[in-house]
Formats: sequence, C-alpha cells, structure tokens
Amino acid sequence: MTEVRTLKVALLGCGNVGAQVARILIEDAEALAARTGARLELSGIAVRNVNAKRDVELPQELFTTDADTLVKDADMVIELMGGIEPARSLILTAIQNGACVVTGNKALLAQDGPTLYEEADKAGVQLSYEAAVAGAIPILRPIRDSLSGDRITRVLGIVNGTTNFILDQMDSTGAQFSDALAEAQKLGYAEADPTADVEGHDAAAKAAILASLSFHTRFALENVHCEGISNVSAADIAAAKDAGFVIKLLAIAEKLTDAHGGEGVSVRVHPTLLPREHPLAAVRGAFNAVFIEAENAGELMFYGQGAGGTPTASAILGDLISSARRLVLGGPGRTETTTGHVPALPIDAAQTSYYIGLDVADQPGVLAKIARLFADHGVSIEIMRQTIHRDADSNVETAELRIVTHRASEAALAATVEAVKGLDVINSVTSVLRVEGV
Ligand code: NAP
Repeated sequence: MTEVRTLKVALLGCGNVGAQVARILIEDAEALAARTGARLELSGIAVRNVNAKRDVELPQELFTTDADTLVKDADMVIELMGGIEPARSLILTAIQNGACVVTGNKALLAQDGPTLYEEADKAGVQLSYEAAVAGAIPILRPIRDSLSGDRITRVLGIVNGTTNFILDQMDSTGAQFSDALAEAQKLGYAEADPTADVEGHDAAAKAAILASLSFHTRFALENVHCEGISNVSAADIAAAKDAGFVIKLLAIAEKLTDAHGGEGVSVRVHPTLLPREHPLAAVRGAFNAVFIEAENAGELMFYGQGAGGTPTASAILGDLISSARRLVLGGPGRTETTTGHVPALPIDAAQTSYYIGLDVADQPGVLAKIARLFADHGVSIEIMRQTIHRDADSNVETAELRIVTHRASEAALAATVEAVKGLDVINSVTSVLRVEGV
C-alpha cells in the first residue's frame, strides 16, 4: 500500500472566511485527500483572541496567538487575516521557509504584490490569490491558465458587490446615493466606513490584478485611474435609464494602440453607462461578474458571488488543492508570466464613448452650434436627443440635450466639454459619463 503524504496547513485568521475554510478542511477531509493525493492537516489557526466566539464550532486546541511558530512549521499557509501587517511578514516567512501560500488579501497584493510575487518566484513556491478578485468566481485561473494560449484584448468587471448593490437600488427604486448607501449598510452589504468601496479603491486593487494577469505585465495600484460612485446622482441614473442604459462601476483593463502604432494598457475604474442589453447590465444586487474579450475565444462572462465567508472559502480551497497537488507531484510551481512589458497608459489616452447631458437655451440653431463644436474637436456624435421643459412659473422653455459620442480619447472629450461650457447657449453641463458596450 502506498503511503499517503500529510501536508500541514496553517490557517492565519478565523473570521468570515477563515472559519468556513477551517470547517471545510475538517468536515471534508476525506474527499479533499482523495482529490489531492495528500492529507491536508489543519495544524493550527492563528487569531488575536483564542477565546472569541466563532461562526462555526472548531477544536479549541487548534487556536493560537503564535502565528510565527505556526507558519514556520507548515507546508502550506492560508492567510485570511487581512490588512498589511503582520500578514505581509508572515507570508514572507512562509515563502522563505518553502511553504505554498494562499491568500485573499487584495489590499496587501495591491500595495506590495510585486515583492511577494518575486519572493515566491525566487523560492520556487506558489502564491495563489483567486479569492482576492470577485470572491467565489473562478476568474484568475481561467485568465492565467485556460486563456494562456489566447490574447486578451479587454476585461470589464463588476468586482465590487457593495457598489453594484447601491447602483442597482438607485436604478430600481430611484433612490439617491445616500439613501441607497444607508440601505446597503442596514443589510450588511456596506461597512460603517464605506470609503474603500464607494470611492472605487477596492475595485482598483482588483483591476490591477486583472490587468497584470491579462496582459502579462505587472501593474500596480498607481497605474489604475480610479473614480468612485459617490457623485452619481438619481438624475444621472434616471437620464441613463431613459436613454436605455444602466450605470455600473466597472473595472476596465484594455489594450490600446496609439496613432503611431505603440501599444499600451489602460487600467481604470469609473461609473460607466452600459446598454441594458449588455450581459453585465443584468448583474443585479451584490453579485459580481467579469466580461472578457479575447482574440480567439471571443466574448466570455464569469458570474457569481463576489464575497461572503462560504463562497470565498470555495476559492481558497480551490487554490489550496491546486497547490497541494503540485507539492505531491513535484516539479516547478505554477507561475504567472510577466513578459508582456506593455506600458500603463494615462487616463488621457483612454478611448471610450461618452454620454453628455446639457441644459441649453431653447433657441433656433443651438443643435447645429453644438454639433459643429464637437466636430471641430474631433469627437463624433452617435446620438443626440432633445427634450423641451417649460417652467410653470416663468413660462421659460429650456431644452435638455443628451448626447452619446462615438469612441473618442479622454483628452479630446475633456477639451470638447470645456469648449461647450463656454457657449452662450449652454446653461449647464449636467453630466459627463463614460459608455462601454455600444
Ligand atoms: P475578518 O472576518 O475580519 O477576520 C480576520 C481574522 O484574522 C480574525 O479571525 C482575526 O482574529 C484575525 N486577525 C486579524 N489580525 C490578526 C493579527 N494581528 N494576529 C492574529 N490574527 C489576526 O476577515 P474576513 O472577512 O474573513 O477576510 C479575510 C481576508 O479575506 C481579507 O484579506 C479580505 O479582504 C479577504 N476577502 C474577504 C471576503 C469576504 O467576503 N469576507 C471576500 C474576498 C476576500 P480574531 O478573530 O481573534 O479577532
């Protein structure tokens, strides 16, 4: 009879995700061993307070506050503490000791990913982080492995459930941002301090990871242009709806070629109008989805739960088993390639369509004046719609103009909007939003 190897697994953190990972490792030990070819022995769980009540009942003797000793004695380390320190130092110790590491810590990867990837490469160990982007959805492995023979051209992701919930509430009930945020907080979808979610920082960390794997180049957080949703008004949502669009916070990574044939990648997060028939427009509530365009595969979409203890634990276990199989079989670990060397482009170079709302005087010749100004700036108009409003008290008529442009550069659009503001027939520019999927 062949002897089955035992791999010692150290778990750092036993919160929402960690507790579920511990439960699965214990409850499904037999099935996991059969799939892995090795027994995955939970050797200990490092926490701050060993006596705290946990979401699941776990053997008390597993708990320790001595994370250092636990890590030094492990074949595999699962980091689910969150934050930068001590998570970073513990991961580095694990790597230096030759242990594989699985983490869901997008904040740490966004801040210090390159150091960790390099250290893992040097030590020949695997560092996996499927759970760091879109929770339960298998998206990093498909990009890195399944699509490694293809060329990805564009990635559009709804990767933050909190903001998707808020925008969906605004869209379906007409609520203002602040009311939808309060509802998200009441239901536990948003934290008491929602800044990281609503200002797009969480999505930006994930955009950097998606762009790095998709374009075989390491992109850092500072390469990501980031705008959140706190300025999206109920009026923006209503106007978008009226024009057949929905507003989503998208993480976008796309390859662009400039006028001289030079290639670069634009990585950005911002509120974006999508036609209601686009597959991402159907992603409701706190769900996540990632839409990929590749030269040979065409369009692909990955959809599911982007957070939650049990769904996220599924992604952690997937990484753990994949790494454990490599330990059993031997040979080099799975690594990502960084041979793309494509530069990150500034936001000015991004190319997209735009939706522009204008409040204008209702006079003859106004439409022609505005159309000419757009043409002079090299921005071509795809749709222009006018609605007349009459003020009941003053009886003065104003016109609301809604314009959707063809793809144009941010720089050309910004110059156009500045010039439009200077026209005497313009009362105000009511919204400028980027559009994808048209
Ligand atoms: P959590 O509920 O806050 O749990 C954190 C755990 O880490 C707690 O058990 C805590 O111990 C322990 N811990 C924190 N600092 C520690 C320290 N200095 N020393 C020892 N133990 C420490 O976090 P979570 O929601 O499970 O998230 C864990 C990680 O997964 C984060 O990086 C998060 O971004 C990522 N993630 C989470 C989700 C999700 O849906 N929750 C989804 C995707 C990714 P005590 O219990 O004793 O305080």
